[in-house]
Amino acid sequence: MNNCKEIQGMIEDFEYNRLSLKNEEKFTGHILNCADCREEMEIYYIISYGLDDMEKNMSDSRYASYIDSFDFTGLVDQKLEDSGIKCQFIREWSYFNRLRYMFVTGVMLLTTFLLVVIRFF
Ligand SMILES: [Zn+2]
Repeated sequence: MNNCKEIQGMIEDFEYNRLSLKNEEKFTGHILNCADCREEMEIYYIISYGLDDMEKNMSDSRYASYIDSFDFTGLVDQKLEDSGIKCQFIREWSYFNRLRYMFVTGVMLLTTFLLVVIRFF
């Protein structure tokens, strides 16, 4: 798949939380279904680990336990799962905010309408 090159180029941005919500969903959606990219992601973590570059980004102890046991497959699984939860949370949150915004706007319009009615009729 031609898409793989693009996805694999996003691994580092994923790791550093630099992807937009849309891209992150695209990224995890692809990696979950593509063995090649998944392997590439594992290799990315193995190399980062080798370069000792990981600690700053691995403050989460759940991730650290995967690294301690050299379970990079598990680490990738956990990262993807967390990302899925995060994306869903953001989506629900923005949906909730939109509802709230619509509600506030509705109340304001109604108030304005009532004021006009009271004032002029
Ligand atoms: Zn792929």
